Amino acid sequence: MRLKNVPGSREAIADSVFVIHEPETNKGAWQQVFGNDHEIHVEIGMGKGRFLYEMASLHPDINYIGIEKYSSVLLRAIQKMEEKELPNLRFVRMDAEDITEVFGRDEIDRIYLNFSDPWPKDRHAKRRLPSRQFLARYDEFLKGNGVLEFKTDNRDLFDFAVEEVPEAGWKIKECTYDLHHDDRLMQGNVMTEYEEKFSSIGNPICKYIIYRQN
Ligand code: SAM
Repeated sequence: MRLKNVPGSREAIADSVFVIHEPETNKGAWQQVFGNDHEIHVEIGMGKGRFLYEMASLHPDINYIGIEKYSSVLLRAIQKMEEKELPNLRFVRMDAEDITEVFGRDEIDRIYLNFSDPWPKDRHAKRRLPSRQFLARYDEFLKGNGVLEFKTDNRDLFDFAVEEVPEAGWKIKECTYDLHHDDRLMQGNVMTEYEEKFSSIGNPICKYIIYRQN
């Protein structure tokens, strides 16, 4: 994602009621943030938040948390919430490297990774969000029957991600190399910003759904 430093974005985020500040203080108590016991789904690397906003509109009985590293990107999601607030959607500005400090055991029902940064150099593999190092982090807070869904048009990243699944002790439930021509997996598909952009120029979209083996 091309990042422009948007002046004032840090301040706007610091003041926003839609952003959960000091998120680690909610570890093990995220249901209290939403005031109900509904499932909690998390998108890591949400960008401008189009996917999560639509998901939260479509599924008011599910709570959504969007995690994004950069204030200038997160600002776009906040602006949308200012136009029309959704009570079941909140944001956290953080680097996902620290995610185990924020969510407690069995706290999260579903994780979404959409068009994650590829980090193409081998020596940066552990920074990729579907890497075994990140899957080990997700192990710590995803429910036993929870799933992780990953979409990308980057075939190298997807091949890497598929290889990481058994290495991390997870299993593939569903997998396609051309989501938009897979009628079954397309049911209920909500497009992300990047998905819209890359599918419109003809790139096939890969997707898997994985779960923990134990
Ligand atoms: N998910 C969106 C989509 O599909 O349109 C955005 C995709 S964009 C390529 C990847 C986003 O993930 C960027 O906004 C980036 O800042 C964020 N990101 C990458 N690594 C991250 C990390 N370690 N923690 C939090 N956010 C991260």
